[in-house]
Amino acid sequence: MAALRSHEPFRLEFMRLSEYKYKNYRFLGCSEGGVHTAMGLPQYKLLFDIGVGHTKLTDYQRLLLTHGHLDHSSGLAYYISQRALRRLDPPDIYCPPELADPLKRIFDIWAEIEGFEAGYNLHPVEYDRYYKIQGNVHFKAIPSIHRVPSNGYTILEKTRKLKEEFQDLPGHEIAVLKNKRNDLFYDHENPIVTFSGDTQIEFVLQNELVRRSKILFLECTYVDEKRPVERARQWGHIHLFEIAQHAEAFRDVERLFLIHFSPRYKQEVIIQQIKEILPDWLAEKTTPFLYSRDIRNVNPPARK
Ligand SMILES: [Zn+2]
Ligand SMILES: [Zn+2]
Repeated sequence: MAALRSHEPFRLEFMRLSEYKYKNYRFLGCSEGGVHTAMGLPQYKLLFDIGVGHTKLTDYQRLLLTHGHLDHSSGLAYYISQRALRRLDPPDIYCPPELADPLKRIFDIWAEIEGFEAGYNLHPVEYDRYYKIQGNVHFKAIPSIHRVPSNGYTILEKTRKLKEEFQDLPGHEIAVLKNKRNDLFYDHENPIVTFSGDTQIEFVLQNELVRRSKILFLECTYVDEKRPVERARQWGHIHLFEIAQHAEAFRDVERLFLIHFSPRYKQEVIIQQIKEILPDWLAEKTTPFLYSRDIRNVNPPARK
């Protein structure tokens, strides 16, 4: 191991954020099973989970929390407090309904400890409801399967489409019909990004919206035979073997980001296993979300 030069500050591994891009989407975050998971989407100014907290992630005003396990949620009080300190708008925090009361109790206690009441808006999610982000872009919470109350989230575009039986009609006839009846169009959902949180694989298998997502962030905690599939399932997690077994469910996904790998694995092992275990066509569109090799762009500059 190379010795640290005395003028270089020591950077803790877990403080690193990685940045990945797909087409014009950017993702800034970190994810390691049982350690920390947080993911920022700059173009929608929102976060999936907050992990253990990070100064860079307090910029995001909207937080979509998947569940209360501390590797996903322990940075909450810091996030709220930092935003208040920086005089930013109070955050909107969405969470599984069962979490709202206990979270509120925790925030009350932190306010007492800090001697300061930081503002926040807590929203227990309603499933099947569309929450507006901007324009025709919305998000929806989707129940997942874990050891505690949990859900994932899908960001989608909502459009109105003309029903097939009217598609051959000329424009002026449609205009006339539009005044007479209101059943010409149907709602179409175009899922852009889904973030699973921690879950069993049924989250994918049971939800068409998840399978149609252009970009899917999927938990994959275990990748080799040392941890059998059954054990992974008992703990409410996904094994890489299950993704291979259900590969067909991922046909429509354009980019599959795998997150939440157990820290027991070296990065090289994860990459190798993805290549070996998944069918080629799926491995090609799969990206393991790992520590970035070059962190200069996403971490504060080193002190001189
Ligand atoms: Zn976790
Ligand atoms: Zn968990």
